[in-house]
Amino acid sequence: MSASCIFCRIASKEVPSAIVYENEDLLAFRDLSPQAPTHILVIPKRHVASLDDLGAADDALLGSMLLAAKHVATEAGLARGYRIVTNCGPDAGQSVAHLHLHVLGGRPMSWPPG
Ligand code: 5GP
Ligand code: ZN
Repeated sequence: MSASCIFCRIASKEVPSAIVYENEDLLAFRDLSPQAPTHILVIPKRHVASLDDLGAADDALLGSMLLAAKHVATEAGLARGYRIVTNCGPDAGQSVAHLHLHVLGGRPMSWPPG
């Protein structure tokens, strides 16, 4: 837990969020500034700055994050499709240094991303 990290504070419930899914290790909540009709973030409850800070020992955590993303997409009714994104580092536009998957859906999306 990092006291200065907004997602750690959301994970500890010190900062409120619209939670859509939770288990022992993960939290999924609605993005404050949605970029699609459905925009949910999936985070580990423990502080991890980005994908770059995970290794082979974290394969179960990564797998459960992806499965949680699929679960919340299904629960949100995104039968036409959805996109899962993790921004890693400054060139990718990562603005919160606590690992998160974006789950985006509810509108058609273009490729490649900007
Ligand atoms: P990044 O730019 O790091 O890939 O994504 C960070 C995301 O966190 C952004 O989409 C931003 O809107 C979201 N965000 C930042 N602060 C908060 C917050 O306090 N609450 C919620 N629910 N989302 C946040
Ligand atoms: Zn954190």
